[in-house]
Amino acid sequence: MNPIQTEDSTRELRARTEGLLRALGAKTPEPGELSARTPITGGELLTLRPSSAAEVDAAVERAAAAFRDWRTVPAPQRAAVVRRLAQLLVEHQDELGELVTLEAGKIGAEARGEVQEMIDICEFALGLSRQLYGRTMPSERPGHRLMETWHPLGVVGVISAFNFPVAVWAWNTALALVCGDTVVWKPSDMTPLTALACHSLVQRAAVEVGANPEVHQLIQGGGEVGAQLVGDSRVALVSATGSVRMGQIVAPRVAERFGRCLLELGGNNAAVVTPSADLDLAARGIVFAAAGTAGQRCTSLRRLIVHADVVGPLVERISSAYRQLRVGNPLADGVLVGPLINGRSYTAMQEALARAQADGGELICGGERVEGFGDDAFYVRPAIVRMPAQTAVVREETFAPILYVLTYHDLDAAIELHNGVPQGLSSAIFTRNQRDAERFLAADGSDCGIANVNIGTSGAEIGGAFGGEKQTGGGRESGSDSWKAYMRRATNTVNYSTELPLAQGIRFE
Ligand code: NAD
Repeated sequence: MNPIQTEDSTRELRARTEGLLRALGAKTPEPGELSARTPITGGELLTLRPSSAAEVDAAVERAAAAFRDWRTVPAPQRAAVVRRLAQLLVEHQDELGELVTLEAGKIGAEARGEVQEMIDICEFALGLSRQLYGRTMPSERPGHRLMETWHPLGVVGVISAFNFPVAVWAWNTALALVCGDTVVWKPSDMTPLTALACHSLVQRAAVEVGANPEVHQLIQGGGEVGAQLVGDSRVALVSATGSVRMGQIVAPRVAERFGRCLLELGGNNAAVVTPSADLDLAARGIVFAAAGTAGQRCTSLRRLIVHADVVGPLVERISSAYRQLRVGNPLADGVLVGPLINGRSYTAMQEALARAQADGGELICGGERVEGFGDDAFYVRPAIVRMPAQTAVVREETFAPILYVLTYHDLDAAIELHNGVPQGLSSAIFTRNQRDAERFLAADGSDCGIANVNIGTSGAEIGGAFGGEKQTGGGRESGSDSWKAYMRRATNTVNYSTELPLAQGIRFE
């Protein structure tokens, strides 16, 4: 373990943060009521002023004004901003990664990985800028051409969660900019500093390639600042990432004004392990998915549905790996599990564990707080709980490292258990039986937006569309044809004949 002397450490982390912000080109913010803390010690790094209502209004106005010209810049030219952003991210990968560790508590490898994901999506968007294809369909009328064209949509309001403070922004922003939209970003009020750094990088990228830096705006604050953005009818698309609770407020507000919504909400992800599974491989995949990022990924593995014949040996493998996991300061080498974001998460975890045990769950290992990091820092050992049934607490997303283990005898029953939760983000099956794998991926198999075979539920690549069903919100971001959410489609019919035939053979003479 690597105990931290909290006061000295916070002072040192503050100095480190200021140095990183400078290296990333971000000005030290004006002090204010918004407190940027580090979960490493729970101490305050800096304070900022949240955006006032007038500032939010002005940011949307600037983004709307910038859109008027930006939409007519050819897409491959718009991509120059994203190309430059990717170069800056490569140059500053370590610094931005470290800032993510300081502010969100991710271990170094995962924080660097998050920045790598930003670079990957920029490269994807760069190629996409020459592939915003529309179709041409055969017209039923002679001398006519029928086609569709894709046009920029407008201002995109991006609301992001604390646990992916930079990658989710990049998924949205790289695509939105290439698609001809402008962006107003409201990051989590728990991660305002990484947002300052990203804003400064994208502004610099725009200026250096001769584009208008007003295409990207940053506003800071909590839910009330987000709510103003959501209610603003100049914002064509609200792309919101966070809890189901937040989505339930945001979706009706956007629908009321007929805006568009892209929702990436909570998950309650499960893996099914069949009797034929390679248990060593399964255990490795499960440990990373369940304990990695201290269980604070939307795709974290929360439920394990294991065939009765293999549950004993599998749980044995996982719990012995859990006992060896180093929990501690995410800046230290060899640490695999960093802190929870704050005391609220710790309380939520303890409450969930108590409820699970009251429901007859058996705590196999973990759940206890790891001491030595001060009163305001919350480090926990990842927990495994064997459950007799999928009770209410198991059907909820607790944003902490708890893995509930359930047992099955028949694959149909396993799939029913798997789908028997309100969320529908990510899922996996571990098996060497192709029939079982195909059954899981079929129409009556997993009901999630992501369904994997022989890999865990977390750690998606940017090439595929990312998102989930049911209470996860139905949105798709990142790769494949997710770009269509950021554009509007026009159907065009062109008559190049001298006649005026009507569709459906209608005669109007
Ligand atoms: P959160 O819902 O508390 O906050 C998310 C964002 O929404 C923040 O920026 C917050 O300020 C804003 N917000 C809150 N209330 C709002 C309102 N009324 N109007 C507008 N904006 C509002 O979530 P969190 O604790 O930051 O993140 C964890 C949650 O996010 C988990 O549920 C996790 O599963 C989910 N998540 C989902 C994905 C995904 O892609 N599906 C990715 C990351 C996180």
